[in-house]
Amino acid sequence: MDFDFTDDERAFRAEVRSFLKKELTESVWRAHRDTNEQGMWSVEFTKAFRRKLGAAGYIGMGWPSEYGGGGRSRIYQAIFWDEMEYARAPGLDRSITYLPNSLLAFGSEAQKQLLLPRIIRGELAWFMGYSEPEAGSDLANASTRAVEDGDHFIITGQKSFSSDAHMADYGLVLARTDPASIKHRGLTLFIVDMTSPGVQIQRHPTLAGWTHHAVYFDQVRVPRAMVMGEVNEGWKVVMGAIDFERAALASYGLPAFQIDRLLGWCSEGVGGAPAPIEDPQVQDELVRLAIEAEGARLTTYWLASLHARGLRPQHETSLAVLVKRETARRLDAAGLEMLGAFGPLRGGSPWAQLDGDVELEYRDRLYFQFAAGGFDITRNVVAQRGLGLPK
Ligand SMILES: Cc1cc2nc3c(=O)[nH]c(=O)nc-3n(C[C@H](O)[C@H](O)[C@H](O)COP(=O)(O)OP(=O)(O)OC[C@H]3O[C@@H](n4cnc5c(N)ncnc54)[C@H](O)[C@@H]3O)c2cc1C
Repeated sequence: MDFDFTDDERAFRAEVRSFLKKELTESVWRAHRDTNEQGMWSVEFTKAFRRKLGAAGYIGMGWPSEYGGGGRSRIYQAIFWDEMEYARAPGLDRSITYLPNSLLAFGSEAQKQLLLPRIIRGELAWFMGYSEPEAGSDLANASTRAVEDGDHFIITGQKSFSSDAHMADYGLVLARTDPASIKHRGLTLFIVDMTSPGVQIQRHPTLAGWTHHAVYFDQVRVPRAMVMGEVNEGWKVVMGAIDFERAALASYGLPAFQIDRLLGWCSEGVGGAPAPIEDPQVQDELVRLAIEAEGARLTTYWLASLHARGLRPQHETSLAVLVKRETARRLDAAGLEMLGAFGPLRGGSPWAQLDGDVELEYRDRLYFQFAAGGFDITRNVVAQRGLGLPK
């Protein structure tokens, strides 16, 4: 087994890193950071930055060439995601990571021709409309209705936890097309233009301070041509789309950034006090965390290598997301602890360290526990599908 990157992959990483360094200077960071947004960047800047990513050729680098893609291996994709995550860059979301893969795998030719050119230029933002108040982890419980009306469907219902719906041009919306069926049968996935009459968005505050969204559909007309996959066969498409989503979440940049930031802070003392790193207990803890982060790195690149070899990993994807996200949460907690009395100080306080980001991120990433499968569900997947354990 070869754990190393090729010269070309290393050069690509250096190129992405220098692109991000040039684009995300300290002054850009100060001007466009917005903690009222889930991505922690202003909507305008996120949209503009996504277009820059498109112009630089970073979107669609793994797509087939007939859709303008670069045909590059999945390892390049993983390197790009890592560097974006490490830089805490804007725009690394479903719009350029997993949504295009779902469209390539399950979309009609007309949908691909309509949407992929705009996605690859970074022009489109998307939201995923799966969850509902009564259908969270149990997604097959979705009750949003879509009624056939000639060459349209009319959608009525509510979606909850709709990340970035307020900036979305399109939504991928799960709705029940056969009311007589239960659970995972009779569901269909629709590509919904968010400017359609009858779409309404409500903002809800979160513990971290940014706002989340609920999206209401009141008799929204969607052309039949915008069904992704087959009518009543939406469950298969959603499961495939969720695999793509998990694969995109399993990148290593976040724990890498957290460990480097913590190491940096511990190496300097505050106000002339000795550097925390001189304390053997702090050293022990940092070593333990660094080893754990290295485990996350190897796991996420192992997953990328399975994709690069043309395999379709499933429980392995859940495993990699779990390892990455649990590592990130342990680093969040360790960061708060090592900052000691400074830890709970919020950004804006004169004594806040690292702009109060460690405290903010600790609150923000609580959702790792239950969003996109969360720790319980992903453990179930690994136990049952990976290890063959009983329910
Ligand atoms: C920040 C954030 C962003 C999100 N973005 C989106 C989005 O863009 N689009 C979208 O459609 N959804 C989104 N979601 C929804 C998310 O992916 C989950 O589906 C949803 O949060 C889980 O539903 P629930 O909150 O109702 O929890 P419940 O389903 O009520 O679960 C509660 C707890 O029970 C556990 N649990 C539930 N079932 C089982 C089981 N079978 N075995 C073991 N444990 C179980 C869960 O892990 C959780 O800890 C988002 C959620 C959050 C918090």
